Parts: sequence; structure tokens; C-alpha cells
Amino acid sequence: MELASLLASSVRDALTFWLPVSCAGCGALDIDVCDGCRAALVPRPVSRVLAPDLTVTSALAFAGPVARVIRALKEEGRTPLAGALAPALRAVLHEVPPDALITAVPSTRAALRRRGYRPVELVLRRAGHRDRRLVGLRRATRDQRGLDRDARRQNVGGAFAARPVAGVPVVLVDDVVTTGATLLEAARALRAAGATGVSAVTLAHTPRCGDLGGEPKVIDT
Ligand SMILES: [Zn+2]
Repeated sequence: MELASLLASSVRDALTFWLPVSCAGCGALDIDVCDGCRAALVPRPVSRVLAPDLTVTSALAFAGPVARVIRALKEEGRTPLAGALAPALRAVLHEVPPDALITAVPSTRAALRRRGYRPVELVLRRAGHRDRRLVGLRRATRDQRGLDRDARRQNVGGAFAARPVAGVPVVLVDDVVTTGATLLEAARALRAAGATGVSAVTLAHTPRCGDLGGEPKVIDT
């Protein structure tokens, strides 16, 4: 582990020890996630076609307690929340073919330095899956938040490269899908590296997915 990451995680552990715990979804005291917020994390999978060759299935709608729990995991160092989010991710991964490789979309370098951990990888691990880290960044990208769809596409265009995966299906995993620009670009890199089929799953989807066209299709799991 890099020194910066090690320090970040030491500081985080110290804070976790000293600060009183409150529900990441609603602020209720003395509990990581209260029963009400845990109920909001029960998966309700929705599938969307991002492109003719890429469908994304998301477990939750990114709103209310769901959004707050995901943000607390990502931005407040509350890594134990990976356990509360794991059932949702497990639900959208349960039909993954046994020979498929699972890989998370990489965090930006700045985010990784700031956090010292990979949130999606933590949730994957708690869901019983391993991140194969097949996709890497070829160049720096900006945080996608606050960018419109065209700017997002430009920001990640050609930004990813994948390790050779000839003849193997791959499932891409991310925390939240908004316009799908990041997933589309990562899928392109995987196909260029030889993946036979690429699909995508995310913990949550934002309403902005709607402007990709078509009504979200609710699927059974
Ligand atoms: Zn709560």
C-alpha cells in the first residue's frame, strides 16, 4: 500500500473509533444503517440499453437513503457500508455466466489517492466476487460529476485500456450509472482487448439514464 493510502486509512480508522456512529442514510444514532434505510437498499433491478451492444442492470435508484449511503462509502471513508450495499450488487450479478470475468471501472487517480481504497471493489468483495482489475486508465480524467453528457463522453474518450481478455465474457461493475459514458468507454476498451461479450451492472442508476431513450425495464431476479 502506498504511504498516502496507508495514512488515509489510519486516519480513517482512528476517526471511526472516536466518532459516534450514525445511520449513513438518515442520521439515526448508534447504528451504521437503520432498518428503514436498510429496507431502501433492497434491490429493485432495472435494465437499460446504453448501446446496441451494451446493457446495464442497476440494483437501486440513486436517491434518498440509497444515494446517501453510497456517498458515505465513497466520500466519507465509511468502508463498513460496503457490507450493507453488497446484497444489492449480488442480486444484479447473480446471473453472470460462470466463465465471465468481473471487473470494476477504475477510479480516477485523484479519487484513489484521496480515498486510499476502491469503493466498488470493497462492495464486490463483500458480495463474494473478485475484481479482476482488467481495465486501467491511460490518462488522467476529471470527475464526471457536474459535466453534461457530451463533456462526459469527451472526458473519458480513449481514457481506458484493458488487459488482454481474448475469448472471455466480461462484466463491468460501477457504483452509479448516469449517462453511461464511462461504461461505454470501458466496454470499448475491453472489446478491443478481445472480450467476447461485455455487459454492465451498477449499484444504482440516476434518473438521467432516462434521457438515453426508452423506459427502464423492470426485470425479475
Ligand atoms: Zn437510517
